[in-house]
Amino acid sequence: MAYDFDLFVIGAGSGGVRAARFAAGFGARVAVAESRYLGGTCVNVGCVPKKLLVYGAHYAEDFEQARGYGWSLGEARFDWAGLVANKDREIQRLNGIYRKLLTDSGVTLLEGHARLTDAHGVEVNGQRYSAEHILVATGGWPVVPDIPGREHAITSNEAFHLPACPERVLVVGGGYIAVEFASIFHGLGAKTSLLYRGELFLRGFDAAVREHLRDEMLKRGLDLQFNADIARIDRQADGSLRATLRDGRSLESDCVFYATGRRPMLDDLGLEEIGVELDERGYIRVDELYRSSQPSILAIGDVTGNVQLTPVALAEGMAVARRLFRPEQYRPVDYRLIPTAVFSLPNIGTVGLTEEQARKAGYRVKIFESRFRPMKLTMTDSQERSLMKLVVDAASERVLGCHMVGPEAGEILQGLAVALKAGATKQVFDETLGIHPTAAEEFVTMR
Ligand code: FAD
Ligand code: NDP
Repeated sequence: MAYDFDLFVIGAGSGGVRAARFAAGFGARVAVAESRYLGGTCVNVGCVPKKLLVYGAHYAEDFEQARGYGWSLGEARFDWAGLVANKDREIQRLNGIYRKLLTDSGVTLLEGHARLTDAHGVEVNGQRYSAEHILVATGGWPVVPDIPGREHAITSNEAFHLPACPERVLVVGGGYIAVEFASIFHGLGAKTSLLYRGELFLRGFDAAVREHLRDEMLKRGLDLQFNADIARIDRQADGSLRATLRDGRSLESDCVFYATGRRPMLDDLGLEEIGVELDERGYIRVDELYRSSQPSILAIGDVTGNVQLTPVALAEGMAVARRLFRPEQYRPVDYRLIPTAVFSLPNIGTVGLTEEQARKAGYRVKIFESRFRPMKLTMTDSQERSLMKLVVDAASERVLGCHMVGPEAGEILQGLAVALKAGATKQVFDETLGIHPTAAEEFVTMR
């Protein structure tokens, strides 16, 4: 049977664009449908604008620290509208680049909501298309728990477009987005509280990292409230918000920001009608080749509930394009040793096993740790300290995990991820000469 397209991609985000571009480059006839914004979450309301806001927030410290180096500055003033307008301009530029990437590679771009009609059919803007393979790459959407007054809360989607920087913010959650946005709001001058329902935020990260970040955030003056959760939110006569906590306390603020996880974006996609199975958490169930229970329908990225990171979606998009249209180049995605950074202030960078995971897996571990004041801060009033930690298998001497909290942790950990991927032992780290004077050299001088 002749189809309109060889591959129809739903969602022009990180994974969808990668799959579409490369499939078209391999000679396939490809269409991509996008309902909202080219580049998806990462480019529009995720990684990119978030990192720009983190850079913006860091200037508060930079101005303070510049004094130690002889600079005297006038009163520093911050203009939220200016930051947001410049950020929007940069995102628009990237949207244009994504459009050009798709059209230059010969992909048919359809702007509108896509809905599956059958195992080989999609409808967009009232028009039906057929395709041999359909790739669902529709990403995720923030979830706000069902509490009275949840309509007063915002999520990361809205945070990027607030008309003004709120004076007082309550951030709810203890994952990546909560700690990153608490750092952003605090850095930009808002009185910021972070409320997390558990003992300590960033569950799943190394305990030393979690404790170190907690201490550094407290030093900076953030209000961290653990074992705290909101029961209801009420708008008051003066427009401010009152959050009543489960323990009976109440907190006043101008903005309540929920960062309590994301759900798969399956709205009006038509999956149920054509019998695509979901897993117990509601994500699209796929096999190791990203095939759903309907083999012509594939899914990648956040909508499958795997690791929700852009480089993972990109790698999956590439794997699908190669497997379908350039099988001799196909390599499965290697999910071991995925490096990641949290762009809190200070940053976290991490790759490999945490100490707890290594012990649980049965390794006898040797731990190497270094805590120090970054050189750049020695002439300033900042009391910030960095943490570096290596988790080593005592039997094989292989480095199982590298963890850091401190300036540029993400930049530093990317190189170490290559070393771990190559199976580096502690001896290899020891024999590697440092780059002096840097913070990164601590990773090769810990004894
Ligand atoms: P998405 O990028 O979400 O793309 C899905 C696309 O599908 C969207 O454009 C959507 O509009 C479209 N779509 C949905 N339904 C339909 C439909 N029916 N028809 C047509 N189009 C549709 N990851 C990192 O690696 N580093 C970071 O620093 C980072 N920061 C983040 C910060 C925030 C605030 C958030 C929310 C996420 C962050 N992430 C980060 C995660 C990263 O953004 C996601 O893992 C990544 O975007 C997932 O890519 P995807 O292709 O699966 O989906
Ligand atoms: P996460 O899943 O990372 O964290 C969700 C947090 O919300 C957890 O602390 C969780 O607590 C808490 N939580 C969940 N449900 C509730 C509830 N009902 N009431 C109170 N608290 C609740 O999600 P995020 O939204 O922070 O981010 C989504 C994903 O996006 C991340 O997992 C990450 O993969 C990706 N991302 C990556 C970034 C990066 O690479 N730098 C930056 C931002 C996002 P508990 O721990 O107790 O379950």
